[in-house]
Amino acid sequence: MLIGTMNHPERNALEEIAWMSEAGMEFIDLTLEPPGAASWEVDTGAIRAALERNRMAVVGHTAWYLPMASAIPELRAGAVAELKRCLYKFAEVGAKWMNIHPDRNTPWHPRQFFIDCNVATIEELLPDVARTGVGLMIENLPGDYNSAPQLAELLDRVPQLGLHLDIGHANLQVPHNTTGEILAAHGKRLRHVHLHDNKGGHADLHLPLGTGTVDLCRCVQALRRCGYDGTITLEVFTPDRHHLLYSRDLLRQTWNECGETAAAQRA
Ligand SMILES: [Zn+2]
Repeated sequence: MLIGTMNHPERNALEEIAWMSEAGMEFIDLTLEPPGAASWEVDTGAIRAALERNRMAVVGHTAWYLPMASAIPELRAGAVAELKRCLYKFAEVGAKWMNIHPDRNTPWHPRQFFIDCNVATIEELLPDVARTGVGLMIENLPGDYNSAPQLAELLDRVPQLGLHLDIGHANLQVPHNTTGEILAAHGKRLRHVHLHDNKGGHADLHLPLGTGTVDLCRCVQALRRCGYDGTITLEVFTPDRHHLLYSRDLLRQTWNECGETAAAQRA
């Protein structure tokens, strides 16, 4: 299992890689978002060289606000264009997977409309997925894409699509954290994980691990039970990096101590 974190979109990606490497992060969850890391401005050659120099891996993350399902065709085409450009940029830095955030911002339309639009956008990207070798994975989001059946509406229609599980999101707007249910249904398609804490309800607080109501031990057990041993991004938003370092240590310790039995049960 590799532990990493995300660059701040306001800052220069190369400077972000420098401090992450010093903090012992094993990969960067590279988000291509303006103003600091716009897909049309980043120096992918320099980023790739910095990652190689620091022996860090990379996972691709795109802006969460792209109108992938817009009812206005020109806006949806804009989202397709941006996501296409990101696929090539991520191939250039050496990423194998790129996340996307399913859209639902289509007032006055039924759910099926925005599901169909998301699928159409994803299908339009598939030729470039094949060309670049960078796969697509969808992130669960509180509200409309946070349960196993809701995610199945997209995953069942596009077999190549991977799952990107955000365990913090799985704790929001639900009676119980949906991590176990999502992994039981779609665990074989899991490609990447985001981890952060919150107190349930609606507030996506992105707190340090152990400071909210996410049961870290249970979630680690669920991941290890389905055989996951990949990248986990600490999506902890804090100006004080000690909180990030504490989260890193707590995750490593929980993975080893709490996850062993689950991994053994699987074997
Ligand atoms: Zn996330």
